[in-house]
Amino acid sequence: MKAQPKASHFIAGDWVEDTAGAAFDSIHPATGEGIARLHEATPDIMSRALDAAQAAQPAWAALAPVERGRILHRAAMIMRARNHELSVLETLDTGKPLQETLVADAASGADAFEYFAGFAPTVTGQTIPLGRDMAYTLREALGVCVGIGAWNYPIQIASWKAAPALAFGNAVVFKPSEMTPLSALALAEILHEAGLPAGLFNVVQGRGAVGAGLVTDARVAKVSLTGSVPTGRKVYAAAAGGIRAVTMELGGKSPLIIFEDADVESAVSAAILANFYSSGQICSNGTRVFVHRDIKTAFLDRLAERTRQIRLGDPLDAKTQMGPLVSDQHMHKVLGHIADGIAAGARLVCGGARHGHVGCFVQPTVFADVRDDMALAREEIFGPVMSVLDFTDEDEVITRANATEYGLAAGVFTRDLARAHRVAGVLQAGTVWVNAYNLTPVEMPFGGVKASGVGRENGHAALEHYTRIKSVYLGLGDVDAPY
Ligand code: NDP
Repeated sequence: MKAQPKASHFIAGDWVEDTAGAAFDSIHPATGEGIARLHEATPDIMSRALDAAQAAQPAWAALAPVERGRILHRAAMIMRARNHELSVLETLDTGKPLQETLVADAASGADAFEYFAGFAPTVTGQTIPLGRDMAYTLREALGVCVGIGAWNYPIQIASWKAAPALAFGNAVVFKPSEMTPLSALALAEILHEAGLPAGLFNVVQGRGAVGAGLVTDARVAKVSLTGSVPTGRKVYAAAAGGIRAVTMELGGKSPLIIFEDADVESAVSAAILANFYSSGQICSNGTRVFVHRDIKTAFLDRLAERTRQIRLGDPLDAKTQMGPLVSDQHMHKVLGHIADGIAAGARLVCGGARHGHVGCFVQPTVFADVRDDMALAREEIFGPVMSVLDFTDEDEVITRANATEYGLAAGVFTRDLARAHRVAGVLQAGTVWVNAYNLTPVEMPFGGVKASGVGRENGHAALEHYTRIKSVYLGLGDVDAPY
């Protein structure tokens, strides 16, 4: 098999295989070809990974932060040097076109290692004057952190969790989605090569049950999940049993609001990126595109024209702009949403069907005249399906944009600066893009509100989620007792 790793798991600095775990294949979704066969982690494998993490963490936390940073920085350099190889692996595993994986996946992971490598030595506590006495605070590592990843950005997700966790002195046990198990193993090998001591970044494979086993283990201090809202509810509840800290990066149904004064060409570009990049498999996608009635026709005409030109095909071909969805099952789910949209009376502007007969390709699809109560406008489809809705009034569109259980992201297109800030201020979302969409630099915190999650990844905010504060009170005089 063309992408077969040396073994299924990476534990304590070594490749580990255990064929007692159920076998599963990683499938290249453009062709249906099996590219690797792996085995799920057995309870013994999970326990070995957690033991390794627990054993390695105290010495790592005791290192000078600049030394931890040096190793993570080296890992970032290796990732950049191997970007092409890592991108091909990601393309084989996810089906995302090489055009994207070359710039958005391992490269974003390397950014995270570079950023947190530099961040680690800057972390300090507070001194708190208390009159005669004083107090100070220390930032401590949490211990063993479990990361569980979705299949859309496998190495990016693993890196966004591992980089801050490791930088601040934690150890990690990471479980990738069983659909995309490969790049987290490549990352483990790179971290090892960069000099990360054994046991600090471990990868175990498996389906949801393996993730569930990790979340409730007594050795685990923190759980960070990237996944859907239903899985988030389960994992959050399970983690609560042990009063574990959590970060939940969950799904969305984000609004992209295009006002009548917007630059239509840029707005069309953003809507396309917000719905068709990674075949629409992005949590923060702006899948509810609210377009002001005055520019609706111009917007839809240009959108349809440009959408029809998107090149679908072999994701390994440098000219391909859109690849398949991640799996056959997911493709049928997305096609089901499209059929439901047509049945509900939404107007199909373009796309609407499977592309070809081989692989899991779906045409980029645009619906117009979508109403707020249609499933198209309410459910996360996670495929290349854009819903365009009309509006006329600012207050009206804000109310409608916020009328969802989700709150991951939102976008606003306008040339009116005051309106941009006013609307950004009241949208219920973890991130609002103004005259841009889906840009997630590592310097900027990312995460959701409402059902889209808790906690933030990236930026200074990540410190709050991978450290805890210890307060030290210093009594500097005699102790008075009333008895
Ligand atoms: P899932 O929620 O199905 O799975 C996410 C991960 O959780 C997988 O590794 C899965 O394992 C694992 N898992 C499933 N059940 C459990 C359980 N009971 N306990 C512990 N772990 C479990 O999401 P998808 O993989 O389908 O990814 C798509 C979803 O992820 C979308 O909703 C998307 O919006 C969201 N997402 C959010 C992002 C964000 O940053 N906010 C970014 C990217 C995606 P397995 O797959 O092996 O069953």
